Amino acid sequence: MKLLSLGMTGTTEEIRQKLQQDCNIFAREGCKLSVDELQLGGYTFLSCNIPDGEISYRSYERVKNLLKVYIAQILSDMIIIREEKNIVHDILRQDYEYFSGEEQNQIITKVFDILHNDRIMTEYSLTVRRSRIFTKMLDYLNGHNEMVLDGFIRFRLKEYRQLLASAVEQAVDEFMSDVEYQEFIRILRYFVSMQEPRFGEVHVVVDKNNVVYIFDADGEILNDQDGEQFTVNTQDGTHDQDLLMSALITVAPQMIIFHFASKVKNKELVATVQEVFTERVFVCDGCRICNVDLTPNRKSGSNPVDT
Ligand SMILES: [Zn+2]
Repeated sequence: MKLLSLGMTGTTEEIRQKLQQDCNIFAREGCKLSVDELQLGGYTFLSCNIPDGEISYRSYERVKNLLKVYIAQILSDMIIIREEKNIVHDILRQDYEYFSGEEQNQIITKVFDILHNDRIMTEYSLTVRRSRIFTKMLDYLNGHNEMVLDGFIRFRLKEYRQLLASAVEQAVDEFMSDVEYQEFIRILRYFVSMQEPRFGEVHVVVDKNNVVYIFDADGEILNDQDGEQFTVNTQDGTHDQDLLMSALITVAPQMIIFHFASKVKNKELVATVQEVFTERVFVCDGCRICNVDLTPNRKSGSNPVDT
C-alpha cells in the first residue's frame, strides 16, 4: 500500500537515503516501510510503501501524517540548499537582464550576504524561509499523496519566490548605490588631480565634540570661502561630510594628516577622504595634536601644531 510518492529530476540519492532513515524510525516501532524507485517520463518517483495488512487503518493514518512531516522537513532543506540558488539566478535573468554577467555576479554575492546574514533576524532569515516552505509543503501533502517537486516549486511557492525577489531587489539597490558612490569618488579624484596643490600639508583634527577643524602646517585654522574659520560638526551626517570634502578639495593639500580619526562617529568620512586623496592621506593613531582640547572660538596663537 502506497503512503506517499515524490517525483523529482536530478539526483535523488540523498533524498532516498534520508527517507530510508526516517522509515527506519518506523521499523523500530515494528512498522516496516520500504522506499521504492520508479523512472517515469523523465522523473524519478520515490515512493514510501507499507505491506498490505501490516497495520490498522488508524496506525496507517498516523504513520502517513508523521511521514508527511518528515518529508516536508527533508524537502524544505533540500529546496534551500539545492534550488534557492537557481531561483535567485532565474529572477536576475528574468527581471534584471540589462546587467552584465559580471554585474549579476556582484549582485548575487550581495543577495547571499542578505540571505545568509545570521547576525539579525529578518524576513529573509534562514528559519523564516525554511518555515515558509515547510508550511506550504505540509499543507500540500495533507491534501495529496503525490507530489512532483519541480511543479510544486514553480506553482506553489510563489510567496517564497516573491521573498527571494525582494532580497534580489534590495541587493540591486545596494549595488546601484555602490556604483553611484564609486562614480562620486571618481569625479572627486578627477577634481583633485586637476587642482594645483595650495598647501604642503594640512591637519584635519576631530575634537571630542566631533567638530572637525583644518589646520595648516603652522597651526592656523584654515578659513572657508566666506573667510570664516572652517569647522564642521560630523555628527550631523552626510551634508557635513560634503562640506569637509569640498573644503579639502579647495585647499588641495599635498598631504592630509587625519588626527583623532578613531573618534569620528561617521566612519565613512575618513574612508571617503582616503578614497579620494588616496596616498596623500595619513591617519595619525595618536600624537599631541590628537589630544589637544579645542574650543569653538579658539584664538590663533595657541595652535596645536606648535605646542
Ligand atoms: Zn595625531
